[in-house]
Amino acid sequence: MQLLDGKACSEEIRKEIKKEVENIVSNGRRPPHLAAVLVGNDGASQNYVAFKVRDCDEVGFDSTTIRMDSSSTEQKLLDKIIELNQDSSIDGFIVQLPLPAHIDENKVILTISPKKDVDGFCPENVGNLNLGLPTYISATPNGIMELLRRYEIKTESKHCVVLGRSNIVGTPMAILMSRNTEPGNATVTLAHSRTKNLKQLCLTADILIVAIGKTEFVTADMVKEGAIVIDVGQTRVPDNTKKSGFRNVGDVDFQNVKNKCSYITYVTGGVGPMTRASLLQNTLKAYKRNKGA
Ligand code: NAP
Repeated sequence: MQLLDGKACSEEIRKEIKKEVENIVSNGRRPPHLAAVLVGNDGASQNYVAFKVRDCDEVGFDSTTIRMDSSSTEQKLLDKIIELNQDSSIDGFIVQLPLPAHIDENKVILTISPKKDVDGFCPENVGNLNLGLPTYISATPNGIMELLRRYEIKTESKHCVVLGRSNIVGTPMAILMSRNTEPGNATVTLAHSRTKNLKQLCLTADILIVAIGKTEFVTADMVKEGAIVIDVGQTRVPDNTKKSGFRNVGDVDFQNVKNKCSYITYVTGGVGPMTRASLLQNTLKAYKRNKGA
């Protein structure tokens, strides 16, 4: 069994980006600039945004965090997005999800300019992904593809089962793995909560990508010998031994599954850091596409 070390891989990526930013700045140009809009006080969202700011600092990007009260109106948020769309000093921005219930997430996504949509959530970018055209690919599936690429894992002709069909992880993941690319060229099954005989299906997977948000759902008896297992899940569970009072648990029973795998990721040093690195890559891409460079 070999660990797919997303932490180490993401460090490599950050170093590469940092070097590129140093070159940009030494040539007298401004660095890339990412903005994050945070509505409300959700603890996990605050953490994610803080990580994104720290990542920007580390590679030399500028970053701006825009905090809005949880009672902010939908219109106020949409106005802020329009302002960010027009602000030429900002190359890309994200609106941290989830949003308070009174704000329509779809309206928000539809208001973000596709050119600055470094999360890759806008219809235009999702459409481009489907067509195999240049786009911003949602950070988590993009990070997983990068991890497979850097470990030179052959995916062609393999059966890939993706558990979970969310718009931000499962569905784009299934599209990417089925595309005529390397990694890619897999035969993909996209499974969800209505899928029957899930255990039997998982047992046929050469590559199993799990993004359902159910702690340790995938057990050893669901995994084929030699499979490649990617655990996207990240659920906070209370843990008094931690300073934070919680720990993140994946969707895979890592301790028991790992010995059956040829490769496996671990939570939180697998997909999480790759997702963060991927957002930096998308921001650098936005900087170049939007002629910040
Ligand atoms: P989501 O929007 O909550 O969707 C969950 C998906 O899992 C749905 O498609 C659902 O099916 C399916 N599902 C739920 N229970 C199932 C079951 N028992 N059997 C089969 N399928 C089941 O999830 P998400 O946003 O993609 O996130 C999934 C997990 O990944 C969460 O733990 C999240 O925190 C984590 N995550 C981690 C990162 C990272 O960077 N590490 C990034 C994003 C997400 P239906 O569609 O039928 O309801």
